Amino acid sequence: MTETRTPSMLQVFNDNFDRAARYLKAPADLLEYIRACHSMYSIKFPVRIRGEVKIFHAYRAEHSHHRTPTKGGIRFAPDVDLDEVAGLAALMTLKCAIVNVPFGGAKGAIALDPRAYEVEELERITRRYTTELVRKNFIGPAVDVPAPDMGTGEREMAWMADTYIMLNPSELNSLACVTGKPVGQGGIRGRTEATGRGVQYALREFFRHPELVKTTGLQGDLTGKRIAVQGFGNVGSHFARLVQAEDGVVIVGLAERDGTIYAPKGLDVQAVLQWRDTTGSIKHFPDATTLNDAKACLELDCDILVPAALQNQITAENAGRIKAPLVAEAANGPTTSAGDAILRAQGKVIIPDIYANAGGVTVSYFEWVKNLSHMRFGLMEKRIGIRTQRQMMSGIEAVTDQAFPAPIREEILHGIDEIELVKSGLEESMVESFQEIVEIMHEKQTPDLRTAAFVCGLHKVVVAYQALGIWP
Ligand code: NAD
Repeated sequence: MTETRTPSMLQVFNDNFDRAARYLKAPADLLEYIRACHSMYSIKFPVRIRGEVKIFHAYRAEHSHHRTPTKGGIRFAPDVDLDEVAGLAALMTLKCAIVNVPFGGAKGAIALDPRAYEVEELERITRRYTTELVRKNFIGPAVDVPAPDMGTGEREMAWMADTYIMLNPSELNSLACVTGKPVGQGGIRGRTEATGRGVQYALREFFRHPELVKTTGLQGDLTGKRIAVQGFGNVGSHFARLVQAEDGVVIVGLAERDGTIYAPKGLDVQAVLQWRDTTGSIKHFPDATTLNDAKACLELDCDILVPAALQNQITAENAGRIKAPLVAEAANGPTTSAGDAILRAQGKVIIPDIYANAGGVTVSYFEWVKNLSHMRFGLMEKRIGIRTQRQMMSGIEAVTDQAFPAPIREEILHGIDEIELVKSGLEESMVESFQEIVEIMHEKQTPDLRTAAFVCGLHKVVVAYQALGIWP
């Protein structure tokens, strides 16, 4: 299969949508309505930068209002356009449905390279963008709730929340207008690393399905697997750090926009992070081979490839050279339709973006609920839990005449904090959704996990619209 030009996110979404729709018994007109992006806002606004007025082009797309608020990240990237934002918003609708998060999908962006601006310039641009969203009712705890994406993080979310609060001073739930905020500004513990951790849980669950593992030719569980990660930003760096520390995987390759580093015996992720902090780049990390090509990472000899950077990375041009038998899509849309077809023809297994990177929105949902409840998770029940556990342990010790080993006693008596609750909720969502997707794959005989995931999400949205009806 060839590609004459790089397809848009929306085109790739539509290809996958069409493939999945064949497995659903849903009216064609309803499917067309579900496919359509409901509201799109394209803005040009001025900000004074270094004495000159600069015009910024920005967007927000709300793909589906079958559940409100709508939800999706804000991306700062130089080449972003409305088509890309609408495609990403559509992915969000199905992603939320897959992990049973009660939101419609949305996405936003400002066309800029954040590296080209000072922090206070970025703050003014972000605050002006937020004001534009407020003016057109494209943001609000019950309306549309942004979160971080490429080029943004908790700093930008804090600015957005503060701007919204300034403009809506009497709104009780105003902190819930964005998620991914710093913990001290209404954020939740575990959100920053949530997307990477979600990919980790997705992979762990994959290896609990021997029939799927067999098709990759791999064996055992995640432990010891050789992984290459493209993208060492929020998603990629937390993923690599967590699977190395907690699953004993070997990170053989890492890539950023300026190049790839490769070490067959493994890279120490923490040391690479330190190296980048000191030198400004991952390149020339000691004991690793540096390649100037960022895409070279995709073709490394490894067991699992994790694209965690940007879209359209695995294409008709390079898919045939990918060696990993298993691809876990941490980025949104890293594989084009033609790239996907080539990988599938070669028998490679893909854990699709629409499920694999849903950890971010799942924990964003927890943060939104926390903001609406105005209380941190676990506060009310923690002490009762500890007391009950202590009584149980004392009872068991009295009956058995044996003391609990100190580390176990300590862990139990520590009680359950917000971070443990977040990890537990995230794990449950990722495990449950994967099992649902696999069930659909077997039941409907879909050719791959991506089609099954699309069927899973689409089915839930179809059912929601059928129950809703049409107003008036
Ligand atoms: P980020 O801005 O923190 O990091 C992006 C990384 O990609 C950086 O390491 C950058 O060097 C690298 N990169 C950029 N251009 C590249 C190129 N041409 N080749 C190789 N690497 C390149 O972004 P992020 O938040 O980690 O997002 C990464 C992907 O994950 C995006 O597709 C995003 O939509 C998706 N995602 C993010 C979240 C989240 O919570 N942040 C949630 C779901 C999905």
